[in-house]
Amino acid sequence: MAIETVGIVGAGQMGNGIAHVFALGGFDVVLNDISQDGLDKALVTIRGNLDRQVSRGKISAEARDTAIARITTTLTLTDLGQTDLIIEAATERETVKSAIFEDLVPHLKPNTILASNTSSISITRLASRTDRPEKFMGVHFMNPVPVMQLVELIRGIATSDETFKALIDVVEKLGKTSASAEDFPAFIVNRILIPMINEAVYALYEGVGNVTSIDHSMKLGAAHPMGPLELADFIGLDTCLAIMNVLHDGLADTKYRPCPLLTKYVEAGWLGRKTGRGFYDYRGDTPVPTR
Ligand code: NAD
Repeated sequence: MAIETVGIVGAGQMGNGIAHVFALGGFDVVLNDISQDGLDKALVTIRGNLDRQVSRGKISAEARDTAIARITTTLTLTDLGQTDLIIEAATERETVKSAIFEDLVPHLKPNTILASNTSSISITRLASRTDRPEKFMGVHFMNPVPVMQLVELIRGIATSDETFKALIDVVEKLGKTSASAEDFPAFIVNRILIPMINEAVYALYEGVGNVTSIDHSMKLGAAHPMGPLELADFIGLDTCLAIMNVLHDGLADTKYRPCPLLTKYVEAGWLGRKTGRGFYDYRGDTPVPTR
């Protein structure tokens, strides 16, 4: 199963990063979104990020130009049908993802492998909506994709060894490292990371510490590069809450109860960096704690 062409569905923050690393890794990339504006912005972001890699001496100007030339964009999902591997990185809603796979199926080559970059939705359930659950996997990139080394590979119950091995090779060609996770809610990284963030919000909620003392404690006392509340703002508080809900519902264990304070921030629309305010206020020159 030689993989040379890759289709990517969704050109948001993850989709553009995934297109970036595949193009740089020598694959031809077809990037799809429902919004032309989204596709245009993705190309601007990819170019900017590649330029930064050139200026830091990480890649040559020639590698950047070759990578850019490898990416084409389309608003027509079915244009991806003839690619060897399709990675879905659209909005984290099961109805959206299922509809994408159902629309793709009649247009696929027999050997095309399907993958989802979902952070939490069951791979087995998504695979069951297609004609090829044995050629379906979770391929979970970390944010920001060009920088982060890990890719989690998640096998659904029906994923074949051949598909799994093909994806291990692909990750290697991207210069990244894979870790395999079983198909349980939130996989490995988010299963551990997001409850830690939720616990930090509980510590804030119960007055054990304030935003600054909690983040300083974990940075200086546990050698974390970012404090948990700073990290929550970076990930997006809506995303953190959605993952806690998936853990709570999927594992039916009260230890995954989302902190009411996290819910309150999300209800306020204080979602972190992307909305200018979360556990910190980013609207001035330097972030200011909001509690
Ligand atoms: P995003 O909101 O930045 O981008 C989603 C994109 O999908 C948007 O451009 C939207 O227009 C597009 N889209 C929506 N419906 C579509 C459709 N039917 N067809 C084509 N495109 C469609 O979201 P994101 O942060 O890039 O997340 C994408 C996926 O990656 C989600 O499954 C998320 O859970 C996962 N993920 C996110 C992170 C993260 O830190 N943000 C990390 C790992 C995985």
